Amino acid sequence: MSKFWSPAIRSLVPYTPGEQPKVLDLIKLNTNENPYPPAPGVTQVLRDFPTDRLRLYPDPDSSKLKTALAEYHGLDNSQIFLGNGSDEVLALAFMAFFRHNKPLLMPETTYSFYEVYCDLLQIEAKKIPLDSEFRINLADYDQENGGIIFANPNAPTGIALPINRIEQLLQRHPDSLVLVDEAYVDFGAETAIGLIARYPNLLVTHTFSKARSLAGMRIGAAFGHPDLIAGLERVKNSFNSYPLDMLAVETATASIADDAYFKDICQRIMHTREHTTAALTGKGFKVLPSATNFIFVTHPQRDALEMMQALRAEKILVRHFTRPGINQFLRISIGTDAEMAQLIDKL
Ligand SMILES: *Cc1c(COP(=O)(O)O)cnc(C)c1O
Repeated sequence: MSKFWSPAIRSLVPYTPGEQPKVLDLIKLNTNENPYPPAPGVTQVLRDFPTDRLRLYPDPDSSKLKTALAEYHGLDNSQIFLGNGSDEVLALAFMAFFRHNKPLLMPETTYSFYEVYCDLLQIEAKKIPLDSEFRINLADYDQENGGIIFANPNAPTGIALPINRIEQLLQRHPDSLVLVDEAYVDFGAETAIGLIARYPNLLVTHTFSKARSLAGMRIGAAFGHPDLIAGLERVKNSFNSYPLDMLAVETATASIADDAYFKDICQRIMHTREHTTAALTGKGFKVLPSATNFIFVTHPQRDALEMMQALRAEKILVRHFTRPGINQFLRISIGTDAEMAQLIDKL
């Protein structure tokens, strides 16, 4: 604390990211990174990049990547927004769409950054409990609101909602912006991108950090009606005109170009997830049904924090959340088969 801190930041409770250890001999299953490298084309781009171009500012619109994503998803460039990681895209969306005098509705258990943005931007967050099986019940969101946000699949539960429920929610709330954070959608859930042509109240966000193995590059995207995208561009251009650097645009575009590689690593991770789920269930763990690259697990006789610490002593990092209601769970990212064999053995 310093006397120079402005009043609004004194009471902030910032987001705590998972540990990024400085030593390398750990099995890192705590931040949902991809265990496989980015597509080979990404390496090629980095090897061949003409360094002299770095003298210049990047394209403020990242048009090359927008065009690649537009083609990939069957959209127009005007329906796509890009940012420095989806965390930044989310922050700009909160600024653009959720500052009303009505509460933003979100699941009680979801990506904890949402309430941090509310805190920072002085938006009232109203948390809606999950059901007894840790599922989102969208009927509970039928109340006065200044917007609705949830992750699908949700985090850290891993559970996905069917797309027809999301469509019903969009129909029931034509005057509310509904933001669906699809950070994990490529691991077995269905994307809502197909709905944006019919629902001007839908914004979908994606990240290149999880399924595309580019967390170190910081690339995120939003998809929605051109009027929503224009709103995001207004905020972006009032904050940082060049959120994506040249290397981010080139590597992300190379990733999109190699769909066979992308589908293959997603399949491998899903296969490893199912195998790990079966093995842990066999050892008496309860594993929530995951459509992501992590599993959320609890054991009826073992304390989750103790298990987390014991795994750490064995050089395996997993994530534990202290919040009541989920503090007996561990969130375990899906690594390679060899890493998961180690984890299963130690557990
Ligand atoms: C990882 C994650 C993000 C952030 O992604 P970045 O693009 O790395 O900023 C956003 N939402 C959810 C639910 C996530 O798990």
